Amino acid sequence: MSLYINPTLTSPDTTEYKIFRQQWRNPYNVYPQCPASTLADLTIWQIDYLIREGGLKVVYVDSLGAVNCANPLHGCGYIDETGAQQLTFPIRGTREYVKRLYALLHAPGTNPKTNFLWGHMSARTSAPINAFMDFQCSGEELETVISENQNYLELYDLDAYQCYYLNTSGVMPMLLPNLGRVGSKEARWMPKYNDQLLALVMLHDSMLWVCWCDTDYILKYYKIFDEFGLKDESLVFLSYRKQKAVISPEKDVYISVYKVKNRAMAVVVNKQKAARSVTVQIDWKKLGIAPGAALKDMRTGKALPKGDSATVTIPSYNFALIQIGE
Ligand SMILES: [Zn+2]
Repeated sequence: MSLYINPTLTSPDTTEYKIFRQQWRNPYNVYPQCPASTLADLTIWQIDYLIREGGLKVVYVDSLGAVNCANPLHGCGYIDETGAQQLTFPIRGTREYVKRLYALLHAPGTNPKTNFLWGHMSARTSAPINAFMDFQCSGEELETVISENQNYLELYDLDAYQCYYLNTSGVMPMLLPNLGRVGSKEARWMPKYNDQLLALVMLHDSMLWVCWCDTDYILKYYKIFDEFGLKDESLVFLSYRKQKAVISPEKDVYISVYKVKNRAMAVVVNKQKAARSVTVQIDWKKLGIAPGAALKDMRTGKALPKGDSATVTIPSYNFALIQIGE
């Protein structure tokens, strides 16, 4: 269970708000309070209490990012040389807020496998602030274009996706999809749009927040991966950027491979509008599996002819899953 908090929101009905309203508020923005104020002290005190007395282990912070403010009662904003009010972004104040949460959730003696700080920061990523998050969700950076086109596989350039969603900084990124939240409501339940999300996530071994998509449909594929051995500690991920074990010479075909012991799962992505038949070549030596292992199309559940190659038909902007070995 995760507690939801928002550093820029508190209930106007609380006694504390009635006392401290002038000092906490940010009248310059749609976000009505500022975490650079003593509102942060109250929130941190409350979270500390919930951890000690209520066993709280996971906190989710929404609307992360420094929001511009000019309330002089807590040190934001300034008057410029012409006498005009200027707004400032409380990056340090927001960083301190997140750092204090992190310190509480990861205090000595707490379990790093059960205690997490995660949050939502779309399109306003700020390294000084998100440095203290365990997980960071984003995805709303596509909010405008997704209302016209729900095809995530087409919308994301693969270099851009790698920048956003691969864990290179210690903060684990997680794609928050918006199927049906923005644009056509039906898109959420259409297999092709869910396939396009899955194709991106599986191709990069990245994480997906399974909401605003067809949860049952998506989890069906996670089940295939779980049975394959996604949680096996010996699992190795071979990225399409480097791997040469399973290849195709065709343009806009990308292949990543997961390997556990003597079996592998090839994710073959067709990042083109045309449906096509794709033949992949298997280099058994590079793959580290004995030649002639069984081949199976995991999307149809059908066995493929044994050999050094496999041919699958992939629809427009979609993927195939080929299991190699039992
Ligand atoms: Zn402020």
